[in-house]
Amino acid sequence: MTEKQNPQQVADDVVVSMEYTLTVDGEFVDKSDPGEPFEFLQGHNNIIPGLESQIGGMTVGESRQVTVEAKDGYGEFDQAQVMDVPLSEFPDSVDPEPGMELMLKDHDGHRLYARVVSVGKTRAKLDFNHPLAGRQLTFDVTIVGLRQPTEEELAHGHVHSHGHGHGHG
Ligand code: ZN
Repeated sequence: MTEKQNPQQVADDVVVSMEYTLTVDGEFVDKSDPGEPFEFLQGHNNIIPGLESQIGGMTVGESRQVTVEAKDGYGEFDQAQVMDVPLSEFPDSVDPEPGMELMLKDHDGHRLYARVVSVGKTRAKLDFNHPLAGRQLTFDVTIVGLRQPTEEELAHGHVHSHGHGHGHG
């Protein structure tokens, strides 16, 4: 058991429990599950930089609306990430249509998100930008808890939820 007192405000190396709602252009995008706040280690790039930099100093129970520009969120829209891909490279099970969202694997096995922009006779135009690239993000956040990280969490730079590690004993 730890004897440490809980931190009083959001600061680097503090585990933050936060409820949030994300809207873009006034439209709902995402929120934390009711009663299950999002938990993360502040100051370790666990969340997008524009959000992390604007919640410092918040206290438990405090709510704030935070606006994050694209460059501090999911990045600017990059036209170079829009590419023509031969239809022959799609698996037989995939029949691309405009607006379809795909999870692809690159040659190293990394998962890539892509959205089908248009489909031609021999090629499809795919957009590999993050779906929120180029968008201004609005977060309504409420801080619901603050605690000290365990030594292991601090060493790893992320939270081990519900006391479970991940294979490091
Ligand atoms: Zn870890």
